[in-house]
Amino acid sequence: MALIVHKYGGTSMGSLDRIRLVAEKVKKVYDEGHSLVVVVSAMSGVTDSFVNKAKELNDDPPEREMDLLMSAGERESAALLAIALNKIGVPAESFTGRQIGMVTDSMHTKARIKRVTGEKLRETLTARKVPVVAGFQGVDEKSGSVTTLGRGGSDTSAVAIAVAMKADVCEIYTDVDGVYTTDPNIVASARRIDRISFDEMLEMASLGAKVLQIRSVEFGKKYDMPIYVKSTFVDGNGTLVTSEVKEMEDVMVAAVAYDRNQAKITVAGVPDRPGIAATIFGRVAEKEINVDMIIQNVSENGLTDISFTVPKNEVKKAVAQIESINKDIGARGVIADDKIGKVSVIGVGMRSHSGVAAKTFKSLADAGINIMMISTSEIKVSCVVAADEVDRAVRILHEAFELALPPNERSYKTVKK
Ligand code: ADP
Ligand code: ASP
Ligand code: MG
Repeated sequence: MALIVHKYGGTSMGSLDRIRLVAEKVKKVYDEGHSLVVVVSAMSGVTDSFVNKAKELNDDPPEREMDLLMSAGERESAALLAIALNKIGVPAESFTGRQIGMVTDSMHTKARIKRVTGEKLRETLTARKVPVVAGFQGVDEKSGSVTTLGRGGSDTSAVAIAVAMKADVCEIYTDVDGVYTTDPNIVASARRIDRISFDEMLEMASLGAKVLQIRSVEFGKKYDMPIYVKSTFVDGNGTLVTSEVKEMEDVMVAAVAYDRNQAKITVAGVPDRPGIAATIFGRVAEKEINVDMIIQNVSENGLTDISFTVPKNEVKKAVAQIESINKDIGARGVIADDKIGKVSVIGVGMRSHSGVAAKTFKSLADAGINIMMISTSEIKVSCVVAADEVDRAVRILHEAFELALPPNERSYKTVKK
C-alpha cells in the first residue's frame, strides 16, 4: 500500500459542497487501504479578504501580524474537511503547520521551510487516521511565531510533507486538469502536457504560471519527488512533473507563461560610472527584494537610465530604498510603473536551437505590441509589455509556436544534433 499526499487548492475547498466532494475523494483512497496525508488551502477568496481587511486598518501592516491573520484561512478549511471526513466514516484529525513541526526561517510572509519534523503525522498515520494539514504556514524556529510561505504556498507545504514522510507521490488537486502549454483560462486551445521536467516547470512557475508555487517544484526537484497536477472535478491522468526525460528535449518550446505581478522601476539620469549599479542594487537587496529584469540604457552626456522589475507588492519598499540614497547617486528621479506584465516563452529544447528569441520578437512586433524589456536564459525568452497587452501577447506567442498542436506535428521543432 502506498503513502500518498493530496493537496486541495482554494477553488477545490471553495464551498461546503466542494468540501464534501473532496472528503469523498479522500475516502475512496483511504478505503483502498492507502495511507494518506491531506494538505489544504483556504477557501478561495479568504486569504485575499484577510489582506484587504488588514490594509483598511493600516496600509503598511506588520508582516508578523499578517502571517497570523493569513494562516487562519487554512486552519478553517483543515478543520472543516476533517469534520466532513468523520461524518462519512473516515477517522481524520486536522493540524496546523506548527503542530506537524513545519519549521521555517523568520522571513514573515515569504518564509522558507527548514524542516518538517512530522511526529504528529507519523502518530496519526500509525493509528490509521487521515491527518488533514493546514497548508501555507509554519512556525519560525527562533521566535515561535506563525509564518506563511508566500502566496500559493500550500503547494510547497504539500511537497515538503511528501518529502519528509517519504511518500510515494504528491498529488496537487486544483481547478484545471493539469499543466497546460499556457493558462487554459486565457487560451482555450491550450494543450495539456502529459509529462514535464522539473526544470521546465521551475521556469514556468518562476515566470508566473501559478498552477504550482515555485518552491514546491524546487523541493520536488531536489528530492526527486514525483508531483501530479490533477483536477478535483474531473478524473484524468493530469500532468506528471518529473526528472528530465530524453523525449522532452525534442520539444523546443514547451509553454508560454505570464506574470502580472511585476512592476518596473526606472532610476533616471544617473552618472554612468563604476559602482552606481552596485550601490542601487545593493540597497534594494538589503530589504530582500527580488530584482528580476535589469536594463541600462546607452549613456548620453555621461548620464544613463537604469530600469528593473520587482514584485508589485515590494515596489514601495524598493522606491524608498533608492530615494534614501538619491543624494549619493544623484539620480534625476525614480519612477515606478505597475501597468506592465511579463510574457515568457519556455522550453529546454532552446538549449540546442537558436531562433526562438527572434521569432518571439517578430511575432509581437507584427501584432504591434511594444516590448519594453527583454531577458533570456538558456531555456526562456521573456518580454515586458504593457499590462493591457498581456493576454493578446500570450495568445500570439502560443499561436506562433503552434503549441495547440501535438508536439510531433509542430513545424517549429528542435533540430536533432
Ligand atoms: P489552487 O487554488 O488550486 O492552488 P491556483 O489558482 O493557484 O489554484 O492555480 C491554478 C490556476 O493556474 C489555473 O486556474 C490557471 O488559471 C492558472 N495557470 C496559469 N498557467 C497555467 C498553466 N500553464 N497550466 C495550467 N494552469 C495555469
Ligand atoms: N491561501 C494561500 C493563498 O491564497 C495559499 C494557497 O492558496 O496555496 O495564497
Ligand atoms: Mg495555488
